[in-house]
Parts: sequence; structure tokens; C-alpha cells
Amino acid sequence: MKLYTDADVDSTCLDGKRIAVLGYGSQGRAHALNLRDSGFDVVVGLRSSGKSFAKAEAAGLNVMEPNEAVKGATIVAFLTPDMVQKTLYESILDDIDEGATLLFAHGFAVHFKQISARADLNVVLIAPKGPGGLVRRQYEEGHGVPCLVAVERDETGDALTLALAYAAGIGGARAGVIETTFAEETETDLFGEQAVLCGGATELIVAGFETLVEAGYQPEVAYYEVMHELKLIVDLLHEGGLRKMHEFISDTAAWGDMVSGPRVVDEASREAMQSVLKDIQDGTFARNWIAENEQGMPEFRRRMQADLDHPIETVGKELRSRMDWLTE
Ligand code: NAD
Ligand code: MG
Repeated sequence: MKLYTDADVDSTCLDGKRIAVLGYGSQGRAHALNLRDSGFDVVVGLRSSGKSFAKAEAAGLNVMEPNEAVKGATIVAFLTPDMVQKTLYESILDDIDEGATLLFAHGFAVHFKQISARADLNVVLIAPKGPGGLVRRQYEEGHGVPCLVAVERDETGDALTLALAYAAGIGGARAGVIETTFAEETETDLFGEQAVLCGGATELIVAGFETLVEAGYQPEVAYYEVMHELKLIVDLLHEGGLRKMHEFISDTAAWGDMVSGPRVVDEASREAMQSVLKDIQDGTFARNWIAENEQGMPEFRRRMQADLDHPIETVGKELRSRMDWLTE
């Protein structure tokens, strides 16, 4: 594994240079503010018709239309939703300086060939391993969220130096920047969110809730058990891995974990994980997701609504309203 830290960074490569941040959502806001506070010349590129425009201006940033923002920029960071990056790239292409560096926070558009960058451009990845809110908060507190770095194309000879300077500017080099490839970052990121983090965890929670409720237990008790308490366990895992969790849970819980966990996540689940991974690797997932977007996302909305209409949401909303410390 190759790991870069602040000691490996030469930020002088960005002296007198400009960074254009396209998008001001979760990542865009954090990157723009951190880079500015690190002393870099930052412009934010947004549609003047969009909601983020006024927000970015209110934060004291220099905001303009994307095609204006990229003029004269050494680094152009694509921090809009993955599915709009292709159209956005095509609309600003003629305004991007020769020899500029296109930077992505996730490899989807490049790896699945939605964007084939002009021959003179560098293509790099700085992917923070955390949501934008955390990237900003950690930076403000003097820390940083670890990042991945990849160089897909180096036309100018300093693509990695520029990428690392950007990573340092958002605070990532304080925590360490691990070298990867666009393929590895894209495929592992999609697999993680589908099989384990978002998809796997929520299906596990809902299936556990339904099992208890169908067996006649009160939905409120089921909610506390399978949704609310998950955070306590995740925090222990996050801070200290399996060892810390085992130090804090009872012997009864640990024994139950070890004998029953593998009955729930069994060989069939592992085979399903392999099949999910294969769909990501061979482009099936990407093709379907791009097609879904082109059709106006009807299936996306239908499935989202089904999630929001689930009884665990009604019970959860009511119970959470009695725990006002949750929103502090
Ligand atoms: P987001 O949905 O939070 O933000 C979208 C921003 O893009 C908004 O400011 C919106 O106004 C702007 N936008 C939308 N369409 C636009 C257009 N056509 N032209 C200009 N601006 C436009 O996005 P996000 O979640 O921050 O994701 C940005 C990138 O970061 C993606 O590549 C994503 O995969 C990656 N990423 C996200 C996270 C995360 O925690 N959200 C983590 C790591 C990587
Ligand atoms: Mg789900």
C-alpha cells in the first residue's frame, strides 16, 4: 500500500493557480470552503438558476456559471451528482484551459466511460472516505478525513503532485491519502454502498423489524432493538473494530453474535454479494443506472417511496420525536 501524508505534499504547485469547484452540495461545499481556508484561489461553478448559487455566495465564495468558472482554472473539480457530470463536461469543454486537470471525488463517470477527457487534460481522483459534512467539520477541528488518490492520465507530468496538493487543501493529507486506481475506487465504493453500507444494512434492519413484528412483538420495541441500537454497535466498530465491540457487549451478546450471525449472513448471502460485485465489474449496474436516469428515474422514485412508506418509518418518526437530543 502506498500512503501519502502532508510530508509528501508540495502545495507550491498551486501558487497563483486557480481551482474551479463545480457543484456546491455535500462534497462541493466542504471542498470549496476547505480549499479557500487553506489559502487557495477558489471559484465555484454553479448554474445561476440553481438553489446552491445564493448559498455559496452567502459563504463569501466567488461564484459564477460553470463555463466561466473553469476559464483559467488549473484544476476543475467535478462535485455534481455522478449522473450529470457527462452533460456538464460537454457544456464546459471548450472553456477548459489546455493542460488543465480534471478532478473527481468518485470514479464513476470516468471509469464507465461517460467522460473521455480531451487529449491534453490530466484526469485524477481525490475521494474522501466520508460525507462532505464530516470533511468540513474535521478540517475546522484541525483534523482530516482520509482520502484515496488515483491518476488516470498524466499529460503534464505533475498530475499526482496537483492531486496531492488538492487533498492536502481539503485536509485529507492530515489523515493520509492512499493510492488506488479509478477502477478499484469505483468498484469497491459501489460494492460497499450496495452490499454492506446502504443496501445491506437497511435490508438487514427492515428484515429484522418485520420478523419481530410478524411474530407478534410491539413495533416500538422492535424499532429500538434493530434500528435505534445499531448506532451504538457501529460506533464501537468504527472506533476500534471487532475487538472494541466485543469488549463492550455482554458475553451473551458476543456468543449470540458468533453462533447466529453466520446463520443469517450465510453462503447464499456471500453468493449474492459475488453476483452484485460481478454486475458492478462488468458494467451491468452502471448501464442500468444510466438508463434509469435517461428514463426520468421512475423505478428510483417507486422504490424510494416504498422505503419511505414502510411501517418502520412511522414508528421511528414517533419514537425519535421523544428523543430531542438526536437532532442536536
Ligand atoms: P450533491 O448531490 O450533494 O450536490 C450536487 C451539487 O451539484 C449541487 O450543488 C447542485 O446544485 C449541483 N449541480 C447539479 N447539477 C448541476 C449542473 N448541471 N451544473 C452545475 N452544478 C450542478 O453531490 P455529492 O453527494 O456531493 O456528490 C458529488 C460527487 O462526490 C459525486 O461524484 C459523488 O459520487 C462524490 N462523493 C460523494 C460523497 C458524499 O458523501 N455525498 C462521498 C464521496 C464522494
Ligand atoms: Mg434498501
